[in-house]
Amino acid sequence: MASIKGLSITARYPFLPEARRRLAEYGITLESFNDPAYLKVVERAKRRILEAIERGDEIELSGLSDDDFIELASFPLSIAMIAAMGDKRLARRFALATASLTIKLLESEDPEWRDEIVLKIARDVFSMDVRQDARVIGGVSYGYSLGLRDYLRGALAFNRPEWKLVNRVVERGRVLVTSHELIRLLKDRVMEHVLSLIERVGKIGALPGPVEEAIKEIRGKMPAAVELELDAVKTGPETWPPCMRAIADKLMAGENISHFANFSFAAFLSNIGFEPHEIIRFYANRPDFNERIARYQVEHIAGLRGSRTRYTAPSCSTMKTNGLCVKDGALCGGVRSPLAYYRRAIRRMKKLDKDKDEVGEERGEAGGEAIRGSGADGDNAGHQQVSDNLG
Ligand code: SF4
Repeated sequence: MASIKGLSITARYPFLPEARRRLAEYGITLESFNDPAYLKVVERAKRRILEAIERGDEIELSGLSDDDFIELASFPLSIAMIAAMGDKRLARRFALATASLTIKLLESEDPEWRDEIVLKIARDVFSMDVRQDARVIGGVSYGYSLGLRDYLRGALAFNRPEWKLVNRVVERGRVLVTSHELIRLLKDRVMEHVLSLIERVGKIGALPGPVEEAIKEIRGKMPAAVELELDAVKTGPETWPPCMRAIADKLMAGENISHFANFSFAAFLSNIGFEPHEIIRFYANRPDFNERIARYQVEHIAGLRGSRTRYTAPSCSTMKTNGLCVKDGALCGGVRSPLAYYRRAIRRMKKLDKDKDEVGEERGEAGGEAIRGSGADGDNAGHQQVSDNLG
């Protein structure tokens, strides 16, 4: 089979089941990395993680080693290192970079072999119901058909119209996809798979010295997480609808969310008075954060670029269609848009503040009376009356 940099398929796609089997034949355990003979593997595992931190989605094939064994063994070691570091944000960034690298590898495979490898990954790793189905319909060259369930599982995360089922060729419960589309669907699966591998590592005891050293170096190069205290942000999230709070929570935890969720949240914040630089802060923990792109998109949504029209936040029915409504609106008293929820919450808050002020003024007067009255009867009596007034 043709290869990139002379690497075998198990070295290029080290999450394949046969890569695990091949590595098991070498009899390597975590302790093996105490041996200086494996220093290059430790070095490559460290580079895998650092490249993920530095480049994320924009990782390059040029970072691949041309040594089959080093590629094969460094992948599980980097998984173990990330598990040991216990940083979820790093785990997601690494999963994203690995998924991007996989896609770039697949797209640069010799077309003669690509189908075979794509099918192998889709079936052997993800048990996807996929068949080769080469046809040209309406000028589009399809390469595969996917079972409806597998198609929807991936495509629901994409917001572009071409992924909507109504715009697809569906035959007897199967959806036709191009080679490029199938590879795109695999990207999200690879990312989930890598995250599950990291989670499955569980607790790790003492690590070999060279691995500890590598982890220390990685920690020193990790950007600090953006700590956004939700309760400290302007206008207070208590006035935000549950759908927007849920998106904010996910963003701050560094989780990836759909493009539509990103758009809705940025549009919502922009409409309630947040400046682009304040909105961007919410996105800084995303594994694929790129400040230049985020700024461009947020400024576009805020109407500072392009058509100069500020986008409004979507209606509740659109949020529901995109699976972003929380508890089917049961917490929102029948509002028709997240912005309507926000305006109503603000009105209530203002009314509450006004009521509090009025009560405070009344209590202030009553308290004054009580204190003034205490002069004749002694301090204790006065304190009693004040505390009575405060309820
Ligand atoms: S009903 Fe509307 S405002 Fe409430 S959670 Fe659903 S989409 Fe958001």
